[in-house]
Amino acid sequence: RQPEPLALADANLQVPLVTGGTVGYANFDYAASAPAARVAVEAITDLLPRYASVHRGAGLPSQLCTTRYERAREQVARFLGCRDDDAVIFTRNTTDATNLLAHALPAEATVLVFDSEHHATLLPWRRAVRLPIPDSPADAVRAVHAALRELRRGEDAPGPVLLAVTGASNVTGEIWPIAELAAAAHRYGARIFVDAAQLAPHRPVDVAAADADYLALSGHKLYAPFGAGVLAGRTDWLDAAPPYLAGGGATALVGDATNDVRWSTGPARHEAGSPNVLGAVALGAVCEALRTGDRDAAIDRERRLTERLHAGLSGIDGVAVLTLFDAGTPRVGIAAFAVRGLDSDVLAAALSAEYGIGVRDGMFCAHPLTRRLLRHAGGELPGTAVRASIGLGTTTEHVDRLVAAVRRLAGDGPQWTYERLDGRPAP
Ligand code: PMP
Repeated sequence: RQPEPLALADANLQVPLVTGGTVGYANFDYAASAPAARVAVEAITDLLPRYASVHRGAGLPSQLCTTRYERAREQVARFLGCRDDDAVIFTRNTTDATNLLAHALPAEATVLVFDSEHHATLLPWRRAVRLPIPDSPADAVRAVHAALRELRRGEDAPGPVLLAVTGASNVTGEIWPIAELAAAAHRYGARIFVDAAQLAPHRPVDVAAADADYLALSGHKLYAPFGAGVLAGRTDWLDAAPPYLAGGGATALVGDATNDVRWSTGPARHEAGSPNVLGAVALGAVCEALRTGDRDAAIDRERRLTERLHAGLSGIDGVAVLTLFDAGTPRVGIAAFAVRGLDSDVLAAALSAEYGIGVRDGMFCAHPLTRRLLRHAGGELPGTAVRASIGLGTTTEHVDRLVAAVRRLAGDGPQWTYERLDGRPAP
């Protein structure tokens, strides 16, 4: 059997309903973690029995794993459209990648960041200048121009400047104008980092064409397993920085004197310790499948489902779909929403227990943005939202089931009483 490149490993989950019977699971939580692609499962199944540490052993399994690990790096680089001399460093996830970049920035660097960012891109920087949440993509570009002009005019000539920005929002799904922001940054000699955690699973990314200096993604949002992510980009700061983790694998030579260490350059400098070979190889396999499969058809399909989802939810009385930019802004398959008079954790619990639908509720690790969107959406909304996000396994039936369920719950309320079991505040 020739597997379809973009097919998912089918878990065929049946959800028992509180109302009796079972129903096929409708996954609307792709933006948190996507189910594994079949190619990811196959890559792991193939390598697991011959599993050995890379760049360390002389035995055949070590050689094989080293080859596969380095091939995965090339597959990721091709998928991302990296320049020949870009580094591709395997990390645990996007959060790990942004923290690695923050660690590697020159000491005097300033980072420009919009308040709307996911906390992984908002928080890691030593010296950040926060920009207010923009009203439109064009407003974002203007704000970057203005901030960089201001920085350059300041009393002290600024050191290096980095703009850290999302490729697609994990709350609204809206796609940000990366190429324009990169051009704005470069005009003032600044660099740009793109958080592609949500963009890469839904749209082709081309680092070289967008002129992005750095980019990060998470394997577990890209149909690969947890624990494998990527930081890709320019080598100069990365090679000049102290290693992210000190230890074996990051060293070219360790002398007998206390501080006599020569660190490696290239990805090894920041990948000390035995790496996550299986995760990287699975991520590489998915990148290759997405690059070579019929992605246009998948994107088209997702776009239609996204429109159906947004139109369906927006048409329900008492439902506010959270968007920042105007309706014409391209977006990936995400719809965050809140229902007047209905707590989002209760709504999420009812969607699961009564309809077999999995969503996420809370503030989505983007507190300032979610707060602002809920505030702007008007009165009587709860303080948190529900996020429905789609991916390669989503069907029209799933979308229609979700829309019908939200209509029912918004009108009549849940059939059951739900309490948040652990009493935690929303994450
Ligand atoms: N950035 C964005 C836009 C995200 O959606 C996420 C995950 N919610 C992250 C960063 C962090 O990803 P991870 O948890 O895999 O580090």
